[in-house]
Amino acid sequence: MKFNPEVYRIPDERMKPFIDPEEIWGYINNSIPTKERVREIIAKALDKQRLNLEETATLVNTTDPELVNEILQGARTLKERVYGNRIVLFAPLYIGNKCTNNCKYCGFRASNKDAVRKTLGDEEIVKEVEALEDNGQKRLILVYGEHQNYSPEFIAHTVKLVYGIKRGNGEIRRVNINAAPLDIDGFRTVKESGIGTYQVFQETYHPEAYANYHPSGKKRDYEWRLTSLDRAQEAGLDDVGIGALFGLYDWRFDVLSLVRHTNHLEACYNVGPHTISFPRIKSASGLDLTDQYFVSDEDFVKLVAILRLAVPYTGMILTAREPIAIRREVIQFGVSQIDGGTKLELGSYSDTKNDSQNLNREQFQINDNRSLSEIVDELIENDYLPSFCTACYRLGRTGEHFMEFSVPGFIKRFCSPNAMLTLAEYLVDYGTPIQKEKGFKLIEKNIQQLNGHQNADEVRSRINKIIAGERDLYF
Ligand code: SAM
Ligand code: SF4
Repeated sequence: MKFNPEVYRIPDERMKPFIDPEEIWGYINNSIPTKERVREIIAKALDKQRLNLEETATLVNTTDPELVNEILQGARTLKERVYGNRIVLFAPLYIGNKCTNNCKYCGFRASNKDAVRKTLGDEEIVKEVEALEDNGQKRLILVYGEHQNYSPEFIAHTVKLVYGIKRGNGEIRRVNINAAPLDIDGFRTVKESGIGTYQVFQETYHPEAYANYHPSGKKRDYEWRLTSLDRAQEAGLDDVGIGALFGLYDWRFDVLSLVRHTNHLEACYNVGPHTISFPRIKSASGLDLTDQYFVSDEDFVKLVAILRLAVPYTGMILTAREPIAIRREVIQFGVSQIDGGTKLELGSYSDTKNDSQNLNREQFQINDNRSLSEIVDELIENDYLPSFCTACYRLGRTGEHFMEFSVPGFIKRFCSPNAMLTLAEYLVDYGTPIQKEKGFKLIEKNIQQLNGHQNADEVRSRINKIIAGERDLYF
């Protein structure tokens, strides 16, 4: 059947646009952050209850340094309670930067004639993925511009190709996608290729600001983008990621809108987004923006902590757009996934001679150039458990059936042991001697903290099997 937007666009109540700017501004303008109220809200969040818009608005309006500090500490505690000390690692792989849109903040936009356009061919994808596997990556997010060449069939083809590429003990076990919104059939095609999460960022949820930054191309259609993940759900793709590009509009409005979007998905489909991303604008080739809404480091840390408190059960992704110091800080307050060893230039993972950044070949500038190994080192040093786990997704534990948070003790029973098993694989296959020494010590320390949720001897026995050469063990 041929796609007909008029049929698919608003098939029922669920796909109606769910952002009302007046309502959101109403909350921001009328929520007063008294000490008692802010503390009550933090306590509610620590009880693992989702915050509503009024409560989120009260937190975004908080400026008293003492209370802001309580918000940060609350987020840190909640994160430890909900996620433990795991940090999931991944890398982005840009497949193609052709684009028919004109987003004013993006180096790939159609009118940027300086951008060097490229779409990786199959052989180039193989080389890139082999290079990523040689570094120890197990989870990738494939990224595409919006262009007729990047059809659902093309995306599905690249996903299947990536899953089939194995070198040594290397393999990619989870492929996520960041690409343009699709229609329902398109989402179905991509889902069938076996993807994990499909991410679409709304950039800004404010319709007028959105219109200003998207002067032409398909992306100009705010509602088509806003309802994209509803269409994904209709297609049976229940593992979705939302995001806002901070710096386009008042950050408080977009924080509330992310919470609203989360509520909408939960209310309509019984499953919230798997992840929230909160990129900040970074320098790009030929940016066409003012800095009116750029978010300061201080506000950025605060907004991450508020999101953590507002949606305790949603994964939060922080990328190498941010500099090392900010990554170190923000990781404490709520982030559960980071990228490592990131390169944005198309074809650059396998091109070892070219290590410099060139803005005409990249979507934007990254500010953390460290290798995956350096990131793993730092996490271990700071008592975080690096994880390459992909078990839930492969066992079908996703979406409505996603038990990570609904089953008591699930994290200690499954997630933490799986983090340890995948870290052990990484250490054996790719670790430096010193990394191995420190990493296995950290694993043993974490085994001792399982408190009976998982059989410690069984975890040790599987670690020994990995050392002996077995791979891909999980609970
Ligand atoms: N082309 C697709 C789209 O726009 O949805 C998907 C990929 S786009 C390459 C991924 C994300 O990068 C965008 O959704 C946007 O949030 C972010 N981005 C674009 N320009 C950026 C910049 N200058 N700094 C930081 N992030 C940027
Ligand atoms: Fe194209 Fe995406 Fe960049 Fe917009 S953000 S110009 S759609 S690649």
